[in-house]
Amino acid sequence: MIRLEKLGKTFRTEEVETIALQDIDLQVGKGEFVAIMGPSGCGKSTLLNIIGLLDNPTVGKFHLNGQEVSRLRENERTELRKGTIGFVFQSFNLIDELTVWENVELPLTYMHIPAKERKEKVKEILQRMKISHRAGHFPQQLSGGQQQRVAIARAVIARPQLILADEPTGNLDSKNGMEVMELLTELHREGTTVIMVTHSEHDARYAERIVKLFDGKVIANIVD
Ligand code: ADP
Ligand code: MG
Repeated sequence: MIRLEKLGKTFRTEEVETIALQDIDLQVGKGEFVAIMGPSGCGKSTLLNIIGLLDNPTVGKFHLNGQEVSRLRENERTELRKGTIGFVFQSFNLIDELTVWENVELPLTYMHIPAKERKEKVKEILQRMKISHRAGHFPQQLSGGQQQRVAIARAVIARPQLILADEPTGNLDSKNGMEVMELLTELHREGTTVIMVTHSEHDARYAERIVKLFDGKVIANIVD
């Protein structure tokens, strides 16, 4: 599903040049659950953003479902991302001005799904994420665990093939963190490919494979 070859990313500002990723060779098969680990600043988020078509690499190749996507324009990346990739972030990234229901409905609206179908899908996913009772509330009125469940509902409502989670339990206590990990595991069991960045050895144990980064390079690829 994902094949990175000699991939690199350099950030350039006027004064400094930061090599965030270097010589990354990595493959992820359909349906895999992979954890990415490594110290702060080693390039984990950059790698996830490139895989998620939020950013382009500077060098190297990136094949997604057989298509070379390393040099796409932003609008092409956005188009390809829709319905294919769902994101979950440490800081939830919900829209504060929208209710829980509206946040979760958003991807379907972008995809021009008819209103009736949107309503059924939102209802179903809110039930599954055990957050239906909060549908009319705003994100700030929810606990961290509830916000992350809303974020996961939004990430998966369009049934993406791939879920990218960047430290999804980073702002949660252990009970809520475990619930999020169980949700990701369940989605993986249903056939979704999951790539998760984590600092937690405990969370990484849910994955089938651990990729370790250091200074922008893959230093280990550990199969469970
Ligand atoms: P991690 O997620 O592992 O903590 P990041 O991928 O966020 O690491 O960052 C890797 C390196 O790239 C860091 O040195 C960081 O400062 C740099 N970096 C990340 N994003 C940018 C950016 N948009 N502009 C400049 N430098 C960046
Ligand atoms: Mg990061």
